[in-house]
Amino acid sequence: MKQAVFLDRDGTINRDVGYLSNPDQLELIPGSAEAIRILNSAEFSVVIISNQAGIAKGLIQEGQLPEIQKVLLAMLQNEDAKVDGFYYCPHHPEGSVKKFSCSCQCRKPAPGLLLKASEEMDIDLSRSYVVGDKMSDVQLAHNVGAVGIMVLTGHGRKEQRGYPPTIKPPDYTCNDLYDAVRCIIKKESGEWAKKGIKAQRSKGKTGSGQEG
Ligand SMILES: [Mg+2]
Ligand SMILES: [Zn+2]
Repeated sequence: MKQAVFLDRDGTINRDVGYLSNPDQLELIPGSAEAIRILNSAEFSVVIISNQAGIAKGLIQEGQLPEIQKVLLAMLQNEDAKVDGFYYCPHHPEGSVKKFSCSCQCRKPAPGLLLKASEEMDIDLSRSYVVGDKMSDVQLAHNVGAVGIMVLTGHGRKEQRGYPPTIKPPDYTCNDLYDAVRCIIKKESGEWAKKGIKAQRSKGKTGSGQEG
């Protein structure tokens, strides 16, 4: 089974503009593409997991999402960064679009998206990471036994200030995605060294990943 780094999208990879509905609104957070490129080289599966309640609220058309995703992937690819999978939750319990207005098992922090990705992409969640700018991303990680990293971009600082002391904190808090990836590589290097596979993985390889 593979090891993955699950990435929140808005506020983690690209700037959070609130219910992003047009590819023109996409702006990468500095260092995001390089961070993903490092994960590619270290042979992690890179999977975007995103709550897109704007769909349930009628603020984003479901059909706009693949277009936004296509442009985001192209922006990353432009910097040799590759994403292996993309999963989103279109639901919200108080939406206005009937089809998507429900409680579901996939709105983060519910584990639905990760369980689906794990099954479809053969990912070992217990050896994986979730990186995001919200408490729900961290709780998602804890809910599946993954490592939860909070980034301080997007809503990160606000969420950090309002983080309830009764809820399990992030395993790591990092300035941004690039910083988070450095933290992951540092932590994993110890594991790889123990298993004698450091040389193999740090060399990296290209063109053999899985398309999601
Ligand atoms: Mg976010
Ligand atoms: Zn859902």
